[in-house]
Amino acid sequence: QAKEDGRNQAAVFSTEIAAAIAGKRTMRDDLLAALEHGELEPYFQPKYDARSLQLKGVEALVRWNHPQRGLLTPDKFLPAAEDMNVVSVIDHQILWRSVEIISELNAAHGFHIPELSVNISQSRLYDPELLRSVDGLSPPFALSFELLESIYFDDGDDRFYWMLDLLRERGIGIQIDDFGSGRASISALININPDRLKIDRSLVRPLTEKAGSSQLIKGIVDIARSMNIGVTAEGVETQKHANLLRDLGCDMLQGYAFAKPMPADALKEFCLKAAS
Ligand code: C2E
Ligand code: MG
Ligand code: MG
Ligand code: MG
Repeated sequence: QAKEDGRNQAAVFSTEIAAAIAGKRTMRDDLLAALEHGELEPYFQPKYDARSLQLKGVEALVRWNHPQRGLLTPDKFLPAAEDMNVVSVIDHQILWRSVEIISELNAAHGFHIPELSVNISQSRLYDPELLRSVDGLSPPFALSFELLESIYFDDGDDRFYWMLDLLRERGIGIQIDDFGSGRASISALININPDRLKIDRSLVRPLTEKAGSSQLIKGIVDIARSMNIGVTAEGVETQKHANLLRDLGCDMLQGYAFAKPMPADALKEFCLKAAS
């Protein structure tokens, strides 16, 4: 009896695994087809100087215009892509397309968007193809990579630091994304020596409610400043937060209080309006 139960469970289990694998395959095929058909596109979210409130740059954020499921945010497909190495292709396309779009906007409309940042996933920092992807580009504006904190949990891998040096040699700024949200230790600031860190939304959100929140941000800002590292606050949703973060010394602000991520044509309208 016990043996039979075990066998039944195994059968159920393997059916589930098969379904999961089939699901993943479908997702992978879908994604590869989507990349080929240009269904993935960058949205852009503006970033502002905390004091002058001038546009300082934009961050590219990938979106998938799925023919059946509609517009998908990265949480719906990036984790699966990461498993399957498809993310390298995504990052490459988003990088190239974003550089193209911002170059065109600046050239055709006389805008001056001074900086573009793109998110680069962990696996890509170990992928020599990244250099080839970068070497073909010569953007007429500053280009930065935003690295997720979780990138350097396996801190100490030489290939990772080698890649960072090569990127820096090519003039690419290095920013630590989602700082304070996860696994990074403060020592990452020494090891990675970023140009800028982005304070995670989870530290910004409780700013007006939780005691200690503003002291914590102030502490991060002081450390960063003493190391000549810029500080962007992300996920800034209210004007009140924006003012507080400015007073705490964050030099750049980004969030729904200013603008949501938008497709290229909306960015154009946005810049035209701002210029008029
Ligand atoms: P991230 O780089 O930390 O980007 C910030 C996320 O917060 C974005 O979500 C953005 O839409 C959202 N956000 C911005 N301002 C606010 C705000 O005021 N309030 C709230 N609640 N949310 C705000 P999104 O676009 O869904 O992207 C999620 C993550 O996916 C990104 O986090 C980044 O880690 C990753 N990602 C996005 N595009 C790419 C890409 O092209 N390549 C790779 N490898 N990762 C990407
Ligand atoms: Mg980012
Ligand atoms: Mg972030
Ligand atoms: Mg994030």
